[in-house]
Amino acid sequence: MIRHAAFDVLPWGLRETSLDVDLLAQTESVFALANGHIGWRGNLDEGEPHGLPGSYLNGVYETRPLPYAEAGYGYPESGQSMINVTDGKLIRVLVDDEPFDVRYGELRAHQRELDFRTGILTRTAEWAAPTGRAIRIRSQRLVSFSQRAIAAVCYDVEPVGGPIRVVVQSELVANQPMPQTSKDPRGGAGLDQPLVPDRSAVSGNRVNMVHYTKGSGLRVSVAMEHDISAPVELDINSEYGENLGRTTVCAVLRPGERLRLVKYVAYGWSERRSTPGLRAQVDAALVAARQTGWDGLCAEQAEFLKEFWDRADVELDGDPQVQQAVRFGLFHVLQAGARAERRAIPAKGLTGSGYDGHSFWDSEIFALPVFTYTLPDAARNALLWRYDILPQAQDRAKELGLNGAAFPWRTISGAECSAYWPAGTGAFHINADIADAVIRYLDATDDEDFAQGPGRDLLIHTARLWMSLGHDTDEGFRIDGVTGPDEYSAIADNNVYTNLMAKRNLLAAAEKATGTDTDVTAEEIASWRRAAERIVIPYDERRRVHPQSEGFTDHQLWDFAAMTQDDYPLLLRYPYFDLYRKQVVKQADLVLAMYLAGDEFTDEQKARNFAYYEALTVRDSSLSACVQAVLAAEVGHADLARAYLDEAALMDLDDLEHNTRDGLHIASLAGAWLALVAGFGGMRHRPGDPLAFAPILPPGMTRLAFRVFFKGRLLNVEITADSATYTLLEGKPIELTHHGETRTLDTGQPISAPIPTRPKIPAPTQPPGREPHQR
Ligand code: BGC
Repeated sequence: MIRHAAFDVLPWGLRETSLDVDLLAQTESVFALANGHIGWRGNLDEGEPHGLPGSYLNGVYETRPLPYAEAGYGYPESGQSMINVTDGKLIRVLVDDEPFDVRYGELRAHQRELDFRTGILTRTAEWAAPTGRAIRIRSQRLVSFSQRAIAAVCYDVEPVGGPIRVVVQSELVANQPMPQTSKDPRGGAGLDQPLVPDRSAVSGNRVNMVHYTKGSGLRVSVAMEHDISAPVELDINSEYGENLGRTTVCAVLRPGERLRLVKYVAYGWSERRSTPGLRAQVDAALVAARQTGWDGLCAEQAEFLKEFWDRADVELDGDPQVQQAVRFGLFHVLQAGARAERRAIPAKGLTGSGYDGHSFWDSEIFALPVFTYTLPDAARNALLWRYDILPQAQDRAKELGLNGAAFPWRTISGAECSAYWPAGTGAFHINADIADAVIRYLDATDDEDFAQGPGRDLLIHTARLWMSLGHDTDEGFRIDGVTGPDEYSAIADNNVYTNLMAKRNLLAAAEKATGTDTDVTAEEIASWRRAAERIVIPYDERRRVHPQSEGFTDHQLWDFAAMTQDDYPLLLRYPYFDLYRKQVVKQADLVLAMYLAGDEFTDEQKARNFAYYEALTVRDSSLSACVQAVLAAEVGHADLARAYLDEAALMDLDDLEHNTRDGLHIASLAGAWLALVAGFGGMRHRPGDPLAFAPILPPGMTRLAFRVFFKGRLLNVEITADSATYTLLEGKPIELTHHGETRTLDTGQPISAPIPTRPKIPAPTQPPGREPHQR
């Protein structure tokens, strides 16, 4: 666990003022840089020591067999693991004849700082070799948002106290040795030596290396080149081998003389392009980056981020630590998806190899809402990736004997990679989650091209899936034997979340397919509407709550009193067999249904259901706290919502799940935004209706301000304890509702409205020891 004291509390950055080698794996995730295409973990420039070396390219993976002790029909045969590609971050320094290595000599000062407005990770260090000779280094690193194939490092080294001979080796290293992987199923497979050398070359001082992967058949090319300056004579040469490219610079420096190396690294990969084609692509990107120069790249980076923050910033007065965490989270969500461009947004972004680099529903239900209302193009691109893998999803549906499309529960390239079918194939809700993201995106942007093409197709094929998964009975349209969001239950009948989301999917497909030239007939549309209207939503009359799936509330209660902290997460200590047949909830399921399909519940049902599920939810998934925050705020537990917000926002800065080393929890970081905007802002988006707000602030938070980009308008919402002010910053007048009252918002005419006071209601309880994390 990281004590938050490890980082200074800053409004726009994250600073660590001393180096704790034991926490390197965690801080490498926290200080990771990415643009959605390239990801560089925050490894030290000199490569060692490290927790987990990591350089990733979105979509680059290797296949691996998925062995089963007892195989069954339809089990995926091959898995996919994101691989550690060629490391372009490495810059080693030899001080006289001692390598700069923080484990030796004396580290007199060490600081790292990630700036959310410049997008640059800066590291400064002063180090004395065991011989007593000392250097000062300063390295600045970026992964460019504007030039998506480019990452760059500006590395300065100077002597302290006396002259030294420095040798700087700037490298590209493929097939780095990887540390042993843990047994935690949430980690990654960590494939060894995944890259096969294809062709390396040096021309001048440009080094280019091409490798390929055997199983997945992908080709990866990396090139580097430098701008080097110093007030002294330099000796520079470059060399290459199968797995190593190196440029070496040698100089004798006196105090006050600085050697600067700007390293430009370009990455490219392809499943089709030839070796020369890929080399040319990467060389070209490198030339463009050098022409832009380091200062130019920094200026472009700052400009991109300024535009983002102008639309997406959230201000929160009264808690600087959570303010920092929320911006940290938004920054990383942006890094995960900004330039993914028709690739997935993995659960860990490109910050670590956890979950093998797979993408799940985390993307559509947690990350895409943030993008939809702040950077809609990124949401569009992520959905286009789903559209690109639609043919695979159709094949998978066929394989399973179903119609339409069955999207994979976890994947990199589109094939189902879950080897555990109850929580993989069984989690069909992913299809409605994708539809939900399409519906939200379409209504928030009025993107007609998307609506007439990919959006409509995604809705139609997922609707067809539900029709073949469910069946009509006297009592209604049932969807039996599926797994909802809560992975401590599986293969259950009529999961309320799944059914309500399927209903929305069917109705949206019906609306978008009506009167179009698709192959959808009027009868098919009518059948979708009928199924949606008749969908079964179980209700437990005796306990007056919704069971999350049929029969759930009759199950035996989990023996929470017998648990100790070490028993959590339960999935590492108890068999699924036992978890499945008892009332214990890993993560918000019915509670998530009450957020995303809130109109289907009365206020009274929401309050009772919320209290019921609070007592059962252990939050063994990082996807839970943020959803609980949203509902806690809605039903009137503002202080509990506050505690859940903190947990979601601090998930990685405080390493609350003890696995930040494997990468960041992108859904939780996006979830902190949801907790603020949908929780305390009470924002609900029902297609066709005005955007609705129902603000409420928790004790201790004196002001919350956020922006929402919606239908071409930029809105600013500012909330204090007793009133909310809505301002239209861009675009034509628009209607919105404040606590149910409709108002029209026009530029230059902000609307202020009082926040109604709410009666105090008794606080719900959680399983003992599973109360929200207290700071
Ligand atoms: C959660 C899933 C989630 C996955 C990846 C699991 O622990 O239960 O809902 O999609 O992690 O974040």
